[in-house]
Amino acid sequence: MRRIMVLGAGYAGLHAVKQLVAQNPNAEIMLVNRDPYHYDTARLHEVAVGRTDPSEISFNLRETVNPGVTVVIDEVTRIDHDIRAVELRRNGLVFYDYLINALGGASSTPDVPGATGNVLPLITLNDAMSARSHIERVLTDYHLSQNPYDLRIAVCGDGFSAVAFMAALLYQLPGLAKQFGVPAERMEVHCFASNPKPLYRFDPKLTEWIMEYLGSRGVVFHANSRVTHVEPGAVFVGNQTFHANTIVWATGIRGSQVVPVSGYAQKFSRVIVRDDLSVVEADGGWPREFVIGDVSAVPNPQNGRVYPASAQLAIQQADCAAANVLSLMQGGRTFRFVFRPYGTILPLGPHSGVAQLEDSRGNYTRLKGAKVRLLINRMNKYFRDSIV
Ligand SMILES: Cc1cc2nc3c(=O)[nH]c(=O)nc-3n(C[C@H](O)[C@H](O)[C@H](O)COP(=O)(O)OP(=O)(O)OC[C@H]3O[C@@H](n4cnc5c(N)ncnc54)[C@H](O)[C@@H]3O)c2cc1C
Repeated sequence: MRRIMVLGAGYAGLHAVKQLVAQNPNAEIMLVNRDPYHYDTARLHEVAVGRTDPSEISFNLRETVNPGVTVVIDEVTRIDHDIRAVELRRNGLVFYDYLINALGGASSTPDVPGATGNVLPLITLNDAMSARSHIERVLTDYHLSQNPYDLRIAVCGDGFSAVAFMAALLYQLPGLAKQFGVPAERMEVHCFASNPKPLYRFDPKLTEWIMEYLGSRGVVFHANSRVTHVEPGAVFVGNQTFHANTIVWATGIRGSQVVPVSGYAQKFSRVIVRDDLSVVEADGGWPREFVIGDVSAVPNPQNGRVYPASAQLAIQQADCAAANVLSLMQGGRTFRFVFRPYGTILPLGPHSGVAQLEDSRGNYTRLKGAKVRLLINRMNKYFRDSIV
């Protein structure tokens, strides 16, 4: 029997598996994932600030995925396209007939000297839980140390995940201060933005509102302040030093570490894909492979710029990749991927948010405040329904 192998159980991989199962192909469907569980990446910031329990944003794969799917819990270390095999850390080489690579993103910490080990990235559920316990530890330390840097949190990054994290954190801070007996008024949140302001390319009116929302709640913005290196308890912007005993790293992602060792054409470890999501080298070489989700780089045909990574993009790519595998298996052709964005929805704590919604004609509607919360709940439900 032929084998369709799906790597990664994030939104992209699980939605692809769901679509494949629905078509009941005459093939084994194998899902490989490093952890025995899925986590909702778009809600990691809630866990990091201690608002949401990890169990609320994760589920066990073997209990949830269709029992007809072979679930392998192991780490992918490399892909050998020529012999059509994936190398797994414990299980060695496993062969495939068709491959959907949905290995997601990795932290950009290796790009900045000293960042690895001294900052808290927010890429995996383990990262989010580490951030949470770190914050609780420094607040506990403050009693003995009376060190003001224990009450200072530096957030490096100015994109959506940095903003979502800061807004969630601001909401939690009074409760954390009370719980750990530290003076709430002395706690500080600093945002290091490499651009003149956060969300630099987002809707200017909504960005202004977000700046006001965060600024009025105490966030100090450091504009044009790209962090150049990190030491324990300190970030450096050029030759300026800034001390903080919690440093959160939300500077965007690069693709999986598997990419550079597997011979792909890549940009920041994201695989550049063709318009049917097959890989660029596929001319006669790797035609049975599709790359989707955060590990892929999909150029927008209108301007050539790579679409920003998002769960909605990952889910739509999974539809296309699954359809392409099934079509190839039946001797058919592949389909072109067309992204239909519905806009951007950004949570700001548990009760607020902003949204820039896009209709099919490319017209935008802006929303902000409490009413966006309903949209966020719907979006999270849509993400979950897409994968289970
Ligand atoms: C804080 C935050 C908030 C976000 N908010 C939104 C939002 O509101 N809306 C939106 O659309 N997007 C949002 N995003 C982006 C969205 O979460 C990602 O684009 C989406 O998760 C990508 O899905 P994916 O399946 O490609 O990757 P992932 O969800 O990262 O899944 C990758 C999977 O592969 C596994 N894996 C990785 N490496 C290996 C390996 N070597 N071997 C085996 N398994 C491996 C991982 O464990 C994981 O299960 C947010 C992201 C973050 C970090």
